[in-house]
Amino acid sequence: MAYSYDNQNIFARILRGEIPNNTVLETEHSLAFHDIAPQAPVHVLVIPKGPYVTYDHFAAEASAEEIVDFTQTVGLVCAQMEVTPGAGDAGYRMIANSGSNGVQDVPHLHIHILGGRMLGRMLSRNG
Ligand code: AMP
Repeated sequence: MAYSYDNQNIFARILRGEIPNNTVLETEHSLAFHDIAPQAPVHVLVIPKGPYVTYDHFAAEASAEEIVDFTQTVGLVCAQMEVTPGAGDAGYRMIANSGSNGVQDVPHLHIHILGGRMLGRMLSRNG
C-alpha cells in the first residue's frame, strides 16, 4: 500500500520549528507536546519525527529504532505526567485517531495521552 504524506500539516510545521509547541519530551526520533485544546488535565500528543500518517503506516515503514524510540517515549511521557496506574488513582487512555472513520484531523501520526480525570467509557454510540 502506498501512503502519501502532506508535509504542510501542522505537526510537520511544528517539527520544522515553523510554529511553537509546548514540549514535554524530545528524543532523537519522537516529540511529545501538550495538546493546544486539552480535553483532560493531562493531554499530551506523542509524534514520531518521521513522515508517517497513521500507526499502520508507521508500523509498515518505520525503522526498528524509530519504533522503539516512539514506544519508549510514550512510556516516559506517562511517567513524567504521573498517570501510570499504580500511583494512587492514576490511569490514562491512549488514542490514535486514524483516517476518516477515526476522525483524524492532523495527518501526521500522533498518540493522544489523556489522564488526570475519570475518562468514562471508551466510545459513545453516536460518535
Ligand atoms: P486528531 O483529531 O486526532 O487529528 O487530533 C489533533 C489534535 O491536535 C487535536 O486534539 C488538536 O487540539 C491538536 N492540535 C492542533 N494544532 C495543535 C498545535 N498547534 N499544538 C498542539 N496541539 C494541536
